[in-house]
Amino acid sequence: MPTPPGEFELIARYFRRPAPHAVLGIGDDCALLACEPGLQWAVSTDMLVEGRHFLAGAEPRQLGHKALAVNLSDLAAMGAQPRAFTLALALPTADPQWLQAFSSGMLALADASGIELVGGDTTRGPLNLCLTVLGLVPPELALRRDAARAGDALWVSGTPGDARLALGHLRGEWQLSPAQAQVVLPRLHAPQPRVGLGLALRGVAHAAIDISDGLLGDLGHVLRASGVGAVVDADSIPASPALAAVATARRRACQLAGGDDYELLFTAPAHRHAKILQAAERARVPVARIGSIVAEPGLQLRDSAGRSIAEHYPSFDHFAAS
Ligand code: ADP
Ligand code: MG
Repeated sequence: MPTPPGEFELIARYFRRPAPHAVLGIGDDCALLACEPGLQWAVSTDMLVEGRHFLAGAEPRQLGHKALAVNLSDLAAMGAQPRAFTLALALPTADPQWLQAFSSGMLALADASGIELVGGDTTRGPLNLCLTVLGLVPPELALRRDAARAGDALWVSGTPGDARLALGHLRGEWQLSPAQAQVVLPRLHAPQPRVGLGLALRGVAHAAIDISDGLLGDLGHVLRASGVGAVVDADSIPASPALAAVATARRRACQLAGGDDYELLFTAPAHRHAKILQAAERARVPVARIGSIVAEPGLQLRDSAGRSIAEHYPSFDHFAAS
């Protein structure tokens, strides 16, 4: 059993890695990153708090993966190339086994995504993870929320709703079979950020957002920022076999209001249909057209027969009364 490390040994042992793209990585007062001519920095921060974003006792390897994945997802939704990140970590104890699993989960995803850990902060306290990611994107190619236009098609990647289906199973709201649980639990605990798809959509898509708080709620951010509306065909959203097996009302609730999917929701001119499919193929991520952007503000939700769905699907809000 290794002894608990002190603060600086902890950083050196679990987090310090070569950062070849950085001028200077971990170890000084600041990291130094070279400016890249002709590119812009895309910067995003996400905090994960125990008991709020993940359950107490979460498996540390998956937690390390997820903390970076949700941040990479923001870079993906901007069409940015991941480059560097910082990690601010509050830990109740310096448990070597926990730290080893946590850092290896995080750094495996970092290596796979080409992003380098260049700094951070470490303190004792209730478990809390705060990451800042930096990515690069050419000016004019960032996939901004205010760029949707009337006449665009609305697309989504993957099978949104699986993470909510898994969460309901864990909370005892419903019971999945062991086989179904085995498929959807990793969608909640170890989401795959759609970085390759975001890059492939540069210059093809207009607006994009990642689904963290619910498809309709996140779509609402795009609609408001762009001053447009949307028609969504609820039954055209792809469902995983596990989600397709549940009753329609629950499936729709998981797909439309479930958070934590980290799929990309994006708009593109309708005539770019084939280009979108090619981009998805390059990124090896399935995408589906689920509606249209219209000039009239507001959201119209339809079923497969074109009938209006009156149900409300509120998105997740940390400060909403519940
Ligand atoms: P300072 O006192 O200047 O804030 P620290 O002693 O907190 O510096 O950190 C020493 C070095 O280790 C810095 O380069 C900092 O960026 C890095 N660092 C601290 N904690 C972490 C962490 N959890 N992950 C990565 N780098 C870290
Ligand atoms: Mg510090």
